[in-house]
Amino acid sequence: MVGEFELIDCYFNWPAVGRGVLIPVGDDAAVTMQRPGWQLATTVDTLVEGVHFLSDCPPEALGHKALAVSLSDLAAMGAEPLWFTLALTLPTAEPSWLEPFSNGLRAIAERFGIDLVGGDTTRGPLTVTITATGELPAGGAVRRGGAEVGDSIWLSGTIGDAALALAALQERRRVATEQLTQLRNALERPLPRVADGLALRGTASAMIDLSDGLIADLGHIVTASGRGAEIDLDKLPLSDSYRTSFASQPVDGLLLALGGGDDYQLLCTIPAGREQPWFGSRPADDWSRIGTITAGNAIRFVGEYAAEIAMDNIARYRHFVGEQPV
Ligand code: ADP
Ligand code: MG
Repeated sequence: MVGEFELIDCYFNWPAVGRGVLIPVGDDAAVTMQRPGWQLATTVDTLVEGVHFLSDCPPEALGHKALAVSLSDLAAMGAEPLWFTLALTLPTAEPSWLEPFSNGLRAIAERFGIDLVGGDTTRGPLTVTITATGELPAGGAVRRGGAEVGDSIWLSGTIGDAALALAALQERRRVATEQLTQLRNALERPLPRVADGLALRGTASAMIDLSDGLIADLGHIVTASGRGAEIDLDKLPLSDSYRTSFASQPVDGLLLALGGGDDYQLLCTIPAGREQPWFGSRPADDWSRIGTITAGNAIRFVGEYAAEIAMDNIARYRHFVGEQPV
């Protein structure tokens, strides 16, 4: 066991890596700079043991993921990470847990140049809350509501791996050991698409990060935009491990990929004339064009198995409703 102040000093007080922190961890409040002509984007996320992560999640991975989900929100606005705070509730203060948690948190913070400027430490059931702030040129935020009919719909990376890993860890689905390592990495160590979010500022008409599943999050874009969408299921980006696991049940694979959460990829819409300069500068295999924004307000599917995918069968995870993914 370590005392509160020793704990903060030892595990949550490292030198600033970014810019703009005037008074760091250790005073009554942090003081940061604000550049004239820039705006702040702020997001908060709470991870609760047993709800957002399994009890056997390695602490290093938890430190990583707690910040990754907030960086993903900043990316989805097109914001550049600046600083964050950490509210940590712990049953006991054990160095054997704090050390790897702090290492995982610090590694991703340094990788993305975001500074930990303060927090709070309390005793109770394991809960991690991070508030993160990023900056945007005035008026530069990419919102959910800007999609127009004819815009193409793009998705980064692959989807479904995290949901499949969770299903495997909860023994709801069998996955071969060779595949589980990669899938579990997607669940426990997602990499937020920060550089992509910045690159899409001024190009994407609407953007969101995938936390609740493709259909739920695309639903936010179409609702906010007052439009519909057509998704080509044959274009959904699925990893080799994912495809292998669902080789004999492609429809089940699509249902989980459409509904499963925790992907932390970016989903955006791009007006026709703006695709080429943007896409021309990206690694071609890392983004997929999965559909088009349509008139109306419905999400429709095309592709080989479209007729077999009913919206009602797509599992969705909602807190407090008691639904479980697949
Ligand atoms: P106060 O009682 O004035 O709120 P605290 O004793 O809670 O101050 O915290 C002392 C300092 O340590 C503050 O600068 C606070 O932001 C920082 N701090 C506390 N807990 C954490 C944490 N988990 N991570 C980072 N900084 C923390
Ligand atoms: Mg306090």
